[in-house]
Amino acid sequence: MRPVVDEELCIGCGNCAEICPAVFQLIDEKSKVFDPDACEFAGCCEAAEENCPVNAITIEED
Ligand code: SF4
Repeated sequence: MRPVVDEELCIGCGNCAEICPAVFQLIDEKSKVFDPDACEFAGCCEAAEENCPVNAITIEED
C-alpha cells in the first residue's frame, strides 16, 4: 500500500499530517509523503484519505 499526494490539489490544511504524522508531513504548505511504509501498521492512511477536503490523497496498491 502506498499513499500518494497530488500536490496540485493539496491546500495544506494539515489534516493528513495530524491524522497520520508518520506518513505525511507538511513542507511549504504542501503535504509530502515522508514514509509510505508507516501506514501499513496503523491503517491511518485510509483515514487521511477520507479526511482530505480536496481528495488529494490516493492509496495505490503495491
Ligand atoms: S489533507 Fe489533503 S489538502 Fe490537507 S494537507 Fe493533506 S493532502 Fe493536503
